[in-house]
Order: sequence, then C-alpha cells, then structure tokens
Amino acid sequence: MLLYDERAQVVEYCLRMQADELTVGTSGNLSVRSGDYIAITPSGVPYDDLTPEAICVIDLDGNKVEDGLDPSSEVPMHTSVYRGTDAGAVVHTHPLYCTTLSVLLDEVPPVHYMIALLGGPVRVAPYARFGSAELAENSMRAMEGRYGALMQNHGATTYGDTLAKAYSRSIYLEWVCRLYHQARLLGEPNLLPLPEIDGVAEVLNSYGQSVPGKP
Ligand code: 13P
Ligand code: ZN
Repeated sequence: MLLYDERAQVVEYCLRMQADELTVGTSGNLSVRSGDYIAITPSGVPYDDLTPEAICVIDLDGNKVEDGLDPSSEVPMHTSVYRGTDAGAVVHTHPLYCTTLSVLLDEVPPVHYMIALLGGPVRVAPYARFGSAELAENSMRAMEGRYGALMQNHGATTYGDTLAKAYSRSIYLEWVCRLYHQARLLGEPNLLPLPEIDGVAEVLNSYGQSVPGKP
C-alpha cells in the first residue's frame, strides 16, 4: 500500500482535529505530501470510521492513484497549495471562531503577536462553493505570503512543511480568532504594528525545542 505512514498520520490528526473541536461532523479535510503523491482524507466519511486503508492517495493533478474511496471534495485546494508552495501538509477546518470572523471581516487583525506564526494578519478568501476551482484560486490568493487563510462563510485552511506544523497553525489561528472575538465584545482592541509582527516572525523561526527521544 502506498504512503502507509502518511495515511496513518492523517488518521491520527483527524481524530485530534475532532477532539480539539476544530471541525464538526464530517467537515474539514487533511492531507500530507510525499514526493509526487498526496495522502488525503476521503470525502464525507465520519472521522471515527477512518483507518489508514480508507485514506486516499492522489497525484499533484488530483488523480486517484489507487482504487478506494473518493478523495475530499477540496482536492483542487489541496493540490493548488502543493503546486504553489513548499507545503508538506494542508489542514482545512471549520472552527467556530475562525468561521465567525470569516462572515464579518476581510482580514484577522494583528491583535496578538502569535499571528506571526501565520505570516501576518490572516486574510479572508472571498466566498466560492466548497470544492470549486474558484475557491482554490481565492484561497491561494488570500494565502500569499501567509501560512493560512480564512474562507468567507466557510472555515480556515493552513499549511506547513509537516502535518504537526500545519495543524498547530490551525490551532493558533482559531485561538487568535477567539481572542479577537472576545476582545471585541468588551471594546475596541489595541492592535500591534505590522513591523512588530514581522520582527516576532523572525524570532519565532528559532523558537521551540524538542525533548530528546520525542519526535
Ligand atoms: P469533504 O468531506 O469532501 O472533505 O468536504 C468537507 C469540507 O469541509 C468541504 O469544504
Ligand atoms: Zn470546508
């Protein structure tokens, strides 16, 4: 079976995505790239039912490489990210606060320095129907110079060189959106200047350590 380890990793993160409430029901999708192939969640399958065998493998043009379930409807968006960036993984979710701000704003403002992990203020891609080439194009445009975007009246997408990084960007993005939402309920939030966000982005490049023996 092609990409067994990547498929197993996709299943692990799908369960995490569900437990972390980054999505509801069968919404959202995840993928990991390995060379010219992509392991991606099947369309419309409950996350609890997923096994490595149920994960699909496609090429960079979105063609199925093995028999099995049909891949996510968002294949055009995932393959666009892989073709247009150096991403090793893509995470698409429907988290409550990201989605709330996606119906209100054009951009998530720099209300906390951790937005630097996304590359700066996160844009909202204009609405287009889920799974469409237009949504893939709008999302790519919104992600220029960023590691993620909100999708208007829909959700959020992030990427990274590993699934762990792409996923943690989704977690941070949802946290910043929740923070902004709460702050706006209480008043007009102070925002950070963009040069400060750029400075923090540089510092964060060397932030974090791993414990010996832990991946
Ligand atoms: P799939 O189940 O086809 O991946 O679709 C979920 C989704 O979030 C579409 O935007
Ligand atoms: Zn979606």
